Amino acid sequence: MTRRISIFGATGSIGQSTIDLIARDPDAYETVALTGGRNIAQLASDAIKLGAQIAVTADEKRLAELRDALAGTGVEAAAGRQALIEAASRPADWVMSAIVGAAGLEPGLRALQTGATLALANKESLVCAGPLIMRTAQAHGTHILPVDSEHSAVFQALIGEDLATVERIVITASGGAFRDWPIEDLAKATPAQAATHPNWDMGQRITIDSASMFNKALELIETKEYFGVSADKIETVVHPESMIHALVGFNDGALMAHVGTPDMRHAIGFALHYPHRKSLPVERLDLVKLGQMTFRDPCETRWPALRLAREVMEAGGLMGAVFNAAKERALDAFIAEQITFPRMAGVVEEVLSDLSTYESHNPAEITLDKVAEADHLARVRADEIMAQ
Ligand code: NAD
Ligand code: MG
Repeated sequence: MTRRISIFGATGSIGQSTIDLIARDPDAYETVALTGGRNIAQLASDAIKLGAQIAVTADEKRLAELRDALAGTGVEAAAGRQALIEAASRPADWVMSAIVGAAGLEPGLRALQTGATLALANKESLVCAGPLIMRTAQAHGTHILPVDSEHSAVFQALIGEDLATVERIVITASGGAFRDWPIEDLAKATPAQAATHPNWDMGQRITIDSASMFNKALELIETKEYFGVSADKIETVVHPESMIHALVGFNDGALMAHVGTPDMRHAIGFALHYPHRKSLPVERLDLVKLGQMTFRDPCETRWPALRLAREVMEAGGLMGAVFNAAKERALDAFIAEQITFPRMAGVVEEVLSDLSTYESHNPAEITLDKVAEADHLARVRADEIMAQ
């Protein structure tokens, strides 16, 4: 039986790894929608290769270019936010949510409302609107499968286990590009330097977020929202080799680790085939060649984003949406070389303190409109702070 699939953010790093797996077994899948941004050539060629019903670019100005690239192929072309939401609402069995940023939230919600299984790489959905996305899945009797290496690892370690016996969840962090830099040099770091990851090949934004550990901060919140464990049970450790993706500690002292080479096709393939395991084209780990694995303290002076994540988890409510939006704006400004690398955390901290009215909202009150409002105000406030 073929499965209907859609990929949001198909032209990105996760999207391309997903297409790599799908394209190896074309008869098993029927592609509904592929979405992308500015890379029209990639979007069109993948849509043709997979025989998609529709290809959507988020960029309205590129509709003519997309139409030209798809002329005579039978693949529909569309552009803009509304077209993206419409494509996300088309029935599918399995959907990959791999748009970067809060922009990925609504398409993922629409997919859940159609009853699709949501493979969730867009961690921002859980950070901004965890209760909303989890209850939408429940209301439509569908599943969300995590596609973050750490969260897929935790999910796998928990299979057959009772969540009540979990003492702690340990999310590993590579430490990113600057883990060995003297802290005083961070103010001189350039976007290009921050966008080079020691182990993982990922999109530019998440790579810079790895250097600042804003990515890990998002992942701590993601862990709380997805697995429903309290913040005091979630920790992180710096593990420069990125071979252990996460560990789960149980009440008998046992610690279960997921170990593998840093390749997102592990997590994507697991979510694609769940509840089965199928052979994946990932490198098998040679333990002797690896030799050793090391661990370090996640220093909060070097990575203040980790402390901010704890504050956000304690505050609850819509502070995740505020945190993520402020981070997105600070990251935009760092990429545009308007602020320094360490200033990003300073900006986010100020926005959190200025918008603390968004704390402790009743989870049932977290709606798409409320998230959009918190997101908007946090962006405005971040821009004001950075303009001072
Ligand atoms: P990427 O930058 O490589 O790709 C992002 C995709 O989203 C592209 O297709 C782009 O066109 C599209 N996009 C960007 N802005 C958009 C907008 N406003 N509206 C619609 N589409 C838009 O990013 P990535 O590294 O593939 O990451 C995607 C998501 O997966 C992120 O949430 C990231 O945190 C998460 N993730 C990535 C990795 C990884 O290894 N790359 C690992 C874990 C989680
Ligand atoms: Mg991750």
